[in-house]
Amino acid sequence: MKVRILRKRPTEDRQYWEEFIYEGPSDISVAGMLDDLNYKDDIVNAAGENVPRIAWECSCLQGMCGGCAMVINGRPALACETFVRDLGDEITIRPLSKFHVINDLVIDRSIIHENALKVNDYIKEYKPSPPKEYEHQYAAAKCLKCGLCLEVCPNYMKGDRFYGALFANDCYLIATRSDVYNRDIKKDYDRHFAAGCSKSLACVEVCPMKIPTLSSMAKLNRKRQD
Ligand code: SF4
Repeated sequence: MKVRILRKRPTEDRQYWEEFIYEGPSDISVAGMLDDLNYKDDIVNAAGENVPRIAWECSCLQGMCGGCAMVINGRPALACETFVRDLGDEITIRPLSKFHVINDLVIDRSIIHENALKVNDYIKEYKPSPPKEYEHQYAAAKCLKCGLCLEVCPNYMKGDRFYGALFANDCYLIATRSDVYNRDIKKDYDRHFAAGCSKSLACVEVCPMKIPTLSSMAKLNRKRQD
C-alpha cells in the first residue's frame, strides 16, 4: 500500500511529499501504521532511499489526548481512531494546515492556549450549577484541544479574533459553573465567537469527542439576551 506523507524538516520552511510502502496488516490504525513505518533500523522511502523517521505526535493512542490530529485522505481526524482498512489502496497524510508546522506531522497548537490566556476567562468563583446542566458540562469538558474543529472551520484563521468552537465550549463551561454569566465572558463570547461564526457546523461533525457545540452555542446565545 502506498502512503504519501507531506513532510517538513524542522530547520526548513519547505514542505515536500514523500512516498512510503506499507506492507503490514490493514486492521490497524493510522497511528499504528506510522509506528510500523518508523520501527526499522533504517527507514526507507518508496524509492529505496534512507530518510529521516516520520515525526508525529501522540500520547495515549486511545482518542484521549488529541495529539495525533492530522489530515488523512483529505479528512481531518485522529490517527489513532482512523483505520487503514477504511482508507483504500493509497493513503495521503498531511499536518493540520491552520497551525505552524514544526516537523513533518507535528504542529504547534500553542495559539489555542494563548487565545485562552488573552481573554483570561476562568471560573473566578465556583458555584454549583443546576443538575440539568451536568450532562452537557461533562460532554463539553471532554475537549482535547486537538484543533480539528479549527481545521475544518471556514471562519477560523490563525491570529484572527475568532477563536472557534472550542472557545464556545469553554465559555459555556465558565458560564454555567461560575456564579454568574459575568460581563467578561459575555463580551468575550460575543467578540471571539458569536461575531465570527457562520454556523457551518463542520466543527460538530469532526469533533472526536462528539461535543454538542451547537447546544453550547444555543445556551450561550440565550444568555446573551439576559
Ligand atoms: S471541540 Fe472537539 S474538535 Fe475542537 S478541540 Fe475540542 S475535542 Fe477537538
